[in-house]
Amino acid sequence: MHVQTPAARPAGFEAGGSGADSVDRTPIATLLIGGNWRSGTGTFDVTDPATGAVIGQASDSGVVEVLAALDAASTAFADWKATPVETRSSILHRAADAIRAEADSLASVMTAENGKPLAESRGEILNSARMLEWSAQEARRACGRTVPNAAQGPSMVLTQPVGPVLAISPWNFPASMLVRKIAMALAAGCTVIAKPADLTPLIAVAIIRTITEAGIPAGVLNLITTTDPAGVTAALMDDPRLRKISFTGSTRVGLGLAEANGSRLRRLSLEMGGHSPAIVLPDAEIEAAASAIVASKFANAGQSCIAVNRLYVHEDLASDLVDAIVRKTEALTVGHGAAEGTDVGPLINDAALAKVTAQVDDAVSKGARVVTGGAVWTPADKSLAGAFYQPTVLVDVDETMLISREETFGPVLAVYTYTDRSEAVAKANDSEYGLAAYVFGRDVAELWKTFDDLEFGVIGVNDPFPVRPELPFGGLKNSGQEREGGSEGIEAYLETKAVSLRF
Ligand code: NAD
Repeated sequence: MHVQTPAARPAGFEAGGSGADSVDRTPIATLLIGGNWRSGTGTFDVTDPATGAVIGQASDSGVVEVLAALDAASTAFADWKATPVETRSSILHRAADAIRAEADSLASVMTAENGKPLAESRGEILNSARMLEWSAQEARRACGRTVPNAAQGPSMVLTQPVGPVLAISPWNFPASMLVRKIAMALAAGCTVIAKPADLTPLIAVAIIRTITEAGIPAGVLNLITTTDPAGVTAALMDDPRLRKISFTGSTRVGLGLAEANGSRLRRLSLEMGGHSPAIVLPDAEIEAAASAIVASKFANAGQSCIAVNRLYVHEDLASDLVDAIVRKTEALTVGHGAAEGTDVGPLINDAALAKVTAQVDDAVSKGARVVTGGAVWTPADKSLAGAFYQPTVLVDVDETMLISREETFGPVLAVYTYTDRSEAVAKANDSEYGLAAYVFGRDVAELWKTFDDLEFGVIGVNDPFPVRPELPFGGLKNSGQEREGGSEGIEAYLETKAVSLRF
């Protein structure tokens, strides 16, 4: 198989290389504080998860740098809050255009450090541009309301930006998860300290460089790259000037942030883990449902919070649907994300591979059957030394197995059969998670009853990707609180002020 070497680096990125031997160790500046690109206390390596090769470095920051970023965000807040909404909106529109213009090079940066196929990276970059555009439009609609005159005079409800925000994002969608926060926060008039995952800092650097050059004033958007997320977050949380945290990542870390926020009542948005069920009703179109399920399951090698993990199929079509899914799964090409034709890239690291392997081994030991895959993928090309796992379909799965409880986050689909719709819904809902769920079928009344009963924040009906800027995104239960996107998204960055007037 042909393997491309990811060569693109963030615009203006001062260090890096295309392989372990060519890493430039000169000081690098991936921190953006008050409009200046700075280096930190040290550096850390960034690797290509497909090969294990070091592809670049980022500045490591500690408490001093992160508090300097909060100084900058706090100082810039008053002016940004007072900036006319037309100006804020047009800056965000320009930022969206700038991202579109750089889509190909940004996609290469993402694939190099995250591993996902280039087409998926490009799609994510374009979604990030759409999110900026939607936020630019929503900025102009963030109105309060007036209240009918009472005896003493008129009243109104004002909305105002919350203040400086810490935006913490994960590695699996390293562009769109971060941009979604930045876009809505800036639209509302908040300033931001962005903190991307240390596995994927370079795409954050590249995107933030691109959009700040589109005219975002100094201090309004700051960037901290660090290997000590707990330490820098704790320092910021001790400072009352930080008014909001918007977190996307694991449920474990999100719940820890909620606890650490303690009695402060600082605004906190949490977008956390998921374990998405899909219910296939007896009248579903088998080929279309199979294509959608395979697309949802194996995008980003299954490392998606909304990937179909648990598939509940009516017993009447289980055999035909599983056959179609297996046929489509076996047609997927595994490889380096930058190689032409790759459908499934590597997992992010060995820990992710160990988790997937443990889930499959546990399921098989308890009676599940591997219909396709079921093992580590070992390519002939020895340069692909990363953490690859074969796209896998398991049948005869039951609730005693780890895979039924734990978020999968890998290319493994667990299939269960059911007899009654209510049984499928009950099993789908029997999870600590409530992020995304899917229903496949044709009878509108049955579809409606099913999505109505599902305890999830996002539902795809015959739709494997129910995410767009116009829709609020977020979960119930331990999948999170508050929403990103839609009109609800900007509310997460606004305070409400009641004003009663007497003349
Ligand atoms: P993670 O929780 O390990 O890390 C997420 C972010 O939090 C990173 O930036 C990390 O550096 C930071 N972090 C880690 N420990 C921290 C701490 N103690 N204090 C403050 N910040 C800390 O998650 P991950 O492995 O990067 O991402 C995968 C997880 O994210 C999965 O569980 C996935 O379901 C979830 N996710 C959710 C959504 C959603 O919208 N609900 C979207 C994408 C990913």
